Amino acid sequence: MKIIRDKESMRALAITEKAAGRRIGFVPTMGALHEGHASLVRAAVAQDDVSVVSIFVNPTQFAPHEDLDTYPRTFEADCALLEELGVDVVYAPERASLYPDGYATYVTVEGLSEGLCSLSRPHFFRGVATVVTKLFATVLPDRAYFGQKDAQQCAIIKRMATDLDLGVEIIEMPIVREPDGLAMSSRNRYLSESERHEALRISAALRKAEALLAAGERDAATLLRRVRTEMAPLPVDYAVLVDAATIAPVTRVEGEVLLAVAVNMGSARLIDNIKYKAPVTPSASDRLKSEESVSCC
Ligand code: AMP
Repeated sequence: MKIIRDKESMRALAITEKAAGRRIGFVPTMGALHEGHASLVRAAVAQDDVSVVSIFVNPTQFAPHEDLDTYPRTFEADCALLEELGVDVVYAPERASLYPDGYATYVTVEGLSEGLCSLSRPHFFRGVATVVTKLFATVLPDRAYFGQKDAQQCAIIKRMATDLDLGVEIIEMPIVREPDGLAMSSRNRYLSESERHEALRISAALRKAEALLAAGERDAATLLRRVRTEMAPLPVDYAVLVDAATIAPVTRVEGEVLLAVAVNMGSARLIDNIKYKAPVTPSASDRLKSEESVSCC
């Protein structure tokens, strides 16, 4: 496994691999790796010719009061795990090389970057979209893997890859959870034992919503009321039901929806979600048409 620190060497390797006809699979991370990251890495190792994992704690997605300086950094352990998973390249650039003095260019994805996480973290998605664009420009991936855990981020990256003609296929991978249901996150280590226990209300509330959806509940207000009741008394930042692709709020469950929540637990901000695709029920006119086609045969 190669560890590359400078963007020139990373780009040169990517150009050589692509010239040889090999497809590059890419997993961008901020390190402090856990099984959630590992699931993305396994997919890249299995599906692509060359697997690249970046480890970079991106300063432009942190506000001044946030945890940039204290964000967990476990580089040695991360590399050991990635080596075990069969990764070809770890790309870990220096902060100053990605954002030198005079840096002035940012990527903003409109619409999708409003609401949900951006209400309490207005700087966040501009920082994510910018760094992902920069990493794509260096790693030159054919496919890039992101987790549904950060569903709004995933929708933004998909939109951005399409809008900017980046030529990268974005693969969204399912949420990996602890055995008791808590969604894995590098920030879970900020939780005290009692907060960790209380946090189980989040996944339990989402499971309840899933059961209601499966039983046919389609009213957003009813579903969200139930989710909030199940999560009480946790300090909820938001609980929303939105269209999974556009992140626009919906009042009824139609097509694919995202039920997403964020909770502030001590110094950790926990996010979690479920997606649900409502089965398509044939409309009256569809039924009539199919009856007509049967009767005329
Ligand atoms: P991060 O290091 O937090 O920036 O995350 C890097 C990637 O791992 C992102 O695409 C996340 O969505 C994904 N990820 C983080 N936690 C999980 C999880 N529990 N399950 C699946 N993917 C995850």
